[in-house]
Amino acid sequence: MGGNHDFFYPLGYHMETPSANTNFIREIIDADLTGGKNDGRVHTRFPPEPNGYLHIGHAKSICLNFGIARDYNGLCNLRFDDTNPETEDVEYVNSIKENVRWLGFDWQDRLFYASDYFPRLYDYAVQLIRKGKAYVCDQSLEEMRRCRGTITEPGRDSPFRNRSVEENLDLFRRMKAGEFEEGSRVLRARIDMSHPNLLMRDPVFYRIRKQAHHRTGNAWCIYPTYDFTHCICDSIEGITHSLCTLEFEVHRPLYDWILNELGIHHPQQIEFARLNLSHTVLSKRKLLELVEKKLVSGWDDPRMPTLAGFRRRGYTPSSIRKFCDQIGVSKADSIVDLVMLENCIREELNRTARRVMVVLRPLKVVIDNYPPDRTEEVDAVNNPEDPAMGTRKLPFCRELYIEQEDFRQIPPKQFYRLSPGKEVRLRYAYFIKCVGFSKDAAGNVTEVHCTYDPATAGGNAPDGRKVKATLHWVSGRHAVDARVRLYDNLFTKRDPNDVAEGSDFTSNLNPASLETLDACKAEPGVANARPGDCFQFERLGYFFADPLDSLPGKPVFNRTVTLRDTWAKIEKKL
Ligand code: ATP
Ligand code: MG
Repeated sequence: MGGNHDFFYPLGYHMETPSANTNFIREIIDADLTGGKNDGRVHTRFPPEPNGYLHIGHAKSICLNFGIARDYNGLCNLRFDDTNPETEDVEYVNSIKENVRWLGFDWQDRLFYASDYFPRLYDYAVQLIRKGKAYVCDQSLEEMRRCRGTITEPGRDSPFRNRSVEENLDLFRRMKAGEFEEGSRVLRARIDMSHPNLLMRDPVFYRIRKQAHHRTGNAWCIYPTYDFTHCICDSIEGITHSLCTLEFEVHRPLYDWILNELGIHHPQQIEFARLNLSHTVLSKRKLLELVEKKLVSGWDDPRMPTLAGFRRRGYTPSSIRKFCDQIGVSKADSIVDLVMLENCIREELNRTARRVMVVLRPLKVVIDNYPPDRTEEVDAVNNPEDPAMGTRKLPFCRELYIEQEDFRQIPPKQFYRLSPGKEVRLRYAYFIKCVGFSKDAAGNVTEVHCTYDPATAGGNAPDGRKVKATLHWVSGRHAVDARVRLYDNLFTKRDPNDVAEGSDFTSNLNPASLETLDACKAEPGVANARPGDCFQFERLGYFFADPLDSLPGKPVFNRTVTLRDTWAKIEKKL
């Protein structure tokens, strides 16, 4: 799973350009700075739980937190929210660190773990017990649930609510010492069982879990809850603005209650809408399910919306940062269309990717009037968007490959590519005209015969005659074999969670999300592609030499994104 690939992108490089977009959070910070709050400091944090790989939603949070720190001369911490030993693992810790760096952000010396604060968190819990604000409760989870009440009905006090401070201190100490069974006791806040906010009805702060933790080993058998931990960690680290997603809005009164009761530094929690992306799921639980049920090849499957997946697909950190900047930050929930993300990478690769010619589904073309043992070289432009990238030589000979779909025996209307009697341009080479074709027993076209016009060298006719199509091609004698993986949306529905009763999101998986083509033919230079190289295959899209599977001489490419929008325009012009 995953793997530790550090190729191609320099780690931790800096981006000096501030975001061009303001948002309501920046407005709050501006007002705080004007009002002299926090002595003019801005300090944020990104607090992942190491129970899965980071996805594009996390990228939004990372860009927001680290971006604000950058733009306000502030600081941003990376803090692992590792309070649940059951689901957390060092594999996830490592992948998260690697992905944050890959995205281009640097936490410098401020890498923290909630688990490092376990002793201090315990002391704060003791402080609350001393104040009469927390108690040990022997109710089972089931009983607690029953006594909690509903939105319309108040809860009922636990029979253990009025234990003395001494008894609570003793029991809590013995919980920590491992004297009690899992599930037999918890530490709870003593707030108000009839509070209108259910989360304020004596919420649990500590549970007994006799389970080793990936960092603290067996040192602890009681573990603090998210609500108890998060605010105190923020406070200890001197965070000024604690940015989280909207579902934590209802938790904010508890965040504030705990810090007020303890009388310690009090960061401001601000909620924003999480990113939802069309045709994919952004829940670690669901992504884990895809991995565990082997519905994808791993967390870094190029169809996954994880950063590891996007990276292996050929997305660049800058394109993802651009996307996060474009979608902005607000309080309104919405689904962002995947097309927006694709446009960010397409726009960047159009500027940077070297053009090459690769035929995905080869069809042999024989140029009948071209001498069998002649080879000539034609000049091809490496990137029309960037003349500095220069040109290269491509071999041309009697036998070539073109795409199967560029030839039709019986052309439909509007089909301007190759068909009997029709003339087309071979990019950078000559005009060719179809004079015949052969078929196998099953009726499939196996070979197309053409003649070429020697006067059209370079792809232009001196007599000014026009052709309506330009095809990409590769020389049969010089072509190198390549494997190419075409990716499509992982889910067919815009909202994969939209399911019929009785089925789940996996029923919306796109059965055609991956197509592997094993017999592609590429121009010779492609043999030297290094893992992580990115190309535009002319007319087809952008392709990335797979970091793990591509080998020198045996290239394997992942399609990053199609040319769709751009190509549609070019085809019209021809
Ligand atoms: P999940 O619910 O899928 O497990 P999570 O929110 O619990 O995700 P965390 O590791 O706790 O995952 O998230 C770390 C930070 O990233 C949190 O501050 C969280 O609010 C933020 N985050 C997670 N998902 C998104 C999203 N889709 N859009 C924006 N921010 C997100
Ligand atoms: Mg979370």
